[in-house]
Amino acid sequence: MNVLVLNCGSSSAKFAVIDPASTREEVSGIAQRLGSRDATLDWKRNGTKGSRPIPGAGHEQALRAVGDLLAELGLVKELIGVGHRVVHGGARFSGSMAITPEVIAKVEECIPLGPLHNPPNLVGIRVAQELFPALLQVGVFDTAFHQTMPPVAYTYPVPHDWLDTLGVRRYGFHGTSHRFVARQALALAGLPLGNHTLVTAHLGNGCSCAAVRNGKSVDTTMGLTPLEGVMMGTRSGSVDPAIIGHVASALNQSAAKILDVLNKQSGLLGVSGLSNDMRTIEEAASRGHERARLAFDLFCYVLAKSIAGLVVPLGRLDALVFTGGIGENSVAVRGRTVEHLGFLGLTIDPDANATHGRGQNGRITKDVRPQALVVPTNEELMIAMDTADIAQQA
Ligand code: ADP
Repeated sequence: MNVLVLNCGSSSAKFAVIDPASTREEVSGIAQRLGSRDATLDWKRNGTKGSRPIPGAGHEQALRAVGDLLAELGLVKELIGVGHRVVHGGARFSGSMAITPEVIAKVEECIPLGPLHNPPNLVGIRVAQELFPALLQVGVFDTAFHQTMPPVAYTYPVPHDWLDTLGVRRYGFHGTSHRFVARQALALAGLPLGNHTLVTAHLGNGCSCAAVRNGKSVDTTMGLTPLEGVMMGTRSGSVDPAIIGHVASALNQSAAKILDVLNKQSGLLGVSGLSNDMRTIEEAASRGHERARLAFDLFCYVLAKSIAGLVVPLGRLDALVFTGGIGENSVAVRGRTVEHLGFLGLTIDPDANATHGRGQNGRITKDVRPQALVVPTNEELMIAMDTADIAQQA
């Protein structure tokens, strides 16, 4: 019983075939540089890598090439469904859904909220429906997990009719990852299903934190778009919105151009002037590169302030969960962030942190309550599990 998981971005399509029961990944890969002569399909199966050129392929041809590959590997017959990552579900989806014409129409309605992400997600759905007409297709939304936020968490202090007429509110993202690691953390930390308070910190190229009480998101750092919140690789996170007007008029550029800079040339990259990659930042900072040091310091400082803020809706903290490329791998970021949060009762265990908590169920702090722990995320597995659940109900 396998599920094909698809994540279609603007110029790439990631895929994986996963057995949700055993969590075994049969194959995973990416079709990248789509639309260019250098487009390739790269994959990994049983530890062996494969690659083939798909020159000029767009999403459609790339997904056909994925279909051909799966047929060659003998993986098509065992598929029970296709799970699609959909970035922006607005306020229309509070859980994963079987794809129907109504669901597609609602995803289309959310395009103004997710103009970069929803269109390629929709292409992935359409092509997968053509390629696998007999299979159940399921949409898994980045925003859905945060639909349990109360009005006080999702409302912006702006004219209220912007909410009703334009959908201006906080939605939150990375929901699939926050939900997955929150579940894993309960088991690892031995916390009760009906009585727990977590802050989950998903720190990859994009970064966001969520406050989770008893399995539900009650607040998160990202907002209307994935630009709000903590500092990221190339995204600024929260800044004074008046910066946009100030810089736009000073440089005689459009607001859209400044927003583009806040999305693509800010964060670690903007502050360091060097890189959006935390490994490069850490390495340069240790060699004495001053702006890399500032970028690292700022990243951890902003992150710790956001985590502390998320304890407000929770009332107490049982566990702080680190995940994503930075959260799972950066000993330095975790160490510094936990150091800032000492007042919450968190004290880093340097040996456990150095080995990513592997010897003690992910825990990297001295005490058990509250504790900080490292939990590897697996959004593809979560999508496969949701798809299998919906397939079983159908
Ligand atoms: P994405 O959000 O694209 O899935 P990832 O979750 O893979 O990205 O996270 C990428 C980030 O993780 C990069 O900033 C990278 O430098 C960082 N990272 C990966 N390994 C390490 C490491 N050993 N130390 C510090 N940062 C790391």
